[in-house]
Amino acid sequence: MALQLRPNCEWCDRDLPPSSTLARICSYECTFCADCVESKLHNVCPNCGGGFQPRPIRPATEWRPGLSVAKRPPSEARVHLSYSLEDIAALSARLRDIPPENR
Ligand SMILES: [Zn+2]
Ligand SMILES: [Zn+2]
Repeated sequence: MALQLRPNCEWCDRDLPPSSTLARICSYECTFCADCVESKLHNVCPNCGGGFQPRPIRPATEWRPGLSVAKRPPSEARVHLSYSLEDIAALSARLRDIPPENR
């Protein structure tokens, strides 16, 4: 039900903890940093072709019972690219000029 909050950028492998303001996700929760979304992917998810949005930050404080980073911890499974850089670049080139809502 809740977001997995994956721990890293699939491209550059930088850490993206639950409090990170740099985390970006697609609708399937493919997770990248803002820098890679901008400069490498051009807002094209290499796994699904969708666009990205900032990942919501899960509160560290348990403001409501059972809901906090400690009570609903992030995923620890690091995820890495599933396609070659050439394949990703080709998909991005095909889709980057089409707004996500029209893909
Ligand atoms: Zn990155
Ligand atoms: Zn995706």
